Amino acid sequence: MKTKGYAVLQAKADLVPFEFERRKLGGYDIGFEIQYSGICHSDIHQAREEWGAALFPMVPGHEIVGVVTAIGAKVSKFSMGDRVGVGVFIDSCRQCENCKGGLQQYCLEGMTGTYNGYERNSEQIAFGGYSNYFVIDENYAVKVPNNLDLSAVAPLLCAGITLYSPLRHWQAQPGKRVAVMGLGGLGHMGVKFAAALGAEVTVLSHSKAKESDAKRMGASAFVDTKSPDWHKGLQKNFDLILNTVSADLDLESYLSTLKTNGTLVVIGLPGKPYSVNAGTLLNGRRSISGSMIGGIPELQEMLDFCGEHNIVSDVEVITADYINKAYERTVASDVRYRFVIDAKSF
Ligand code: NAP
Ligand code: ZN
Ligand code: ZN
Repeated sequence: MKTKGYAVLQAKADLVPFEFERRKLGGYDIGFEIQYSGICHSDIHQAREEWGAALFPMVPGHEIVGVVTAIGAKVSKFSMGDRVGVGVFIDSCRQCENCKGGLQQYCLEGMTGTYNGYERNSEQIAFGGYSNYFVIDENYAVKVPNNLDLSAVAPLLCAGITLYSPLRHWQAQPGKRVAVMGLGGLGHMGVKFAAALGAEVTVLSHSKAKESDAKRMGASAFVDTKSPDWHKGLQKNFDLILNTVSADLDLESYLSTLKTNGTLVVIGLPGKPYSVNAGTLLNGRRSISGSMIGGIPELQEMLDFCGEHNIVSDVEVITADYINKAYERTVASDVRYRFVIDAKSF
């Protein structure tokens, strides 16, 4: 199927209009018209090769929503007209213990990314969501609740699940103090989910102007981390800290705000390694952990939770010709709180 989108033709270049063929529909595949596609900071990291060598031409985009328009002969989960979502991976080995346990994002052979790689067992480059049509195995797509606005759902497919998963794993609930570092695309979903799960939420942000938004989203406190002593009054305070910051950062002052047995979860993926003093971890049996998106069952659970609680992302809907500007604004922390591309504009 002829598909129109936007691509990066070489590292760090601007995105330009790009046409390509989607694969033919297989028996277990669904085809769908993309309606909206979110812009994740990971798209920018990869388009600019901030994580190492990448594959070009690259059509980024792994926050994809649309409506099913084609059904393979063996499809059982989807019908024509269903609202569908696709996230950060399009396939995995399906055999390993993680795939069998619904943790496809941690597939022992490696998940097949939605872009910046090849389709599984194929020489065909996988092209992502900045485009107007998609084909995927039905087992790697999820259903979108009917009561939610599709443009505001798109970011849930990466930003949403990436914060929902650690909040569930570390049991955010009433009585727990959760801090979210960085109020961007991921961070703002973390605030909404942590508040919906009943935890007490604090935002740790270097953008003072975001304070009223943070409170509106459910945070009870906002701390401006640009003030040098911001952590002094917060020593041994939080049960859980979710670090969504996309830039290199010194973690020491953040770790000092963790309670005994508290955990700081690394979610943001800047280029450089972190350095940590052993003493800061020892004192209070503190942990640093990591978390990456979520598997297919949890992705569906998160969307259903959003349907029940009426949770969506705060979005700025743009046309394709604004993508390059949206990248600049995202890097400058000037996004309220996710850019979403209207696929009609491709
Ligand atoms: P984003 O919308 O750009 O948000 C990042 C936020 O980090 C900014 O809004 C800003 O919040 C804060 N920040 C940025 N530069 C900073 C600096 N120099 N110092 C302090 N804070 C700074 O990005 P995103 O899409 O949410 O993604 C965040 C990170 O998570 C990226 O590195 C992305 O690749 C990664 N990611 C990881 C996963 C995963 O599975 N673990 C999934 C998706 C994305 P304030 O203005 O509030 O300070
Ligand atoms: Zn992402
Ligand atoms: Zn696997």
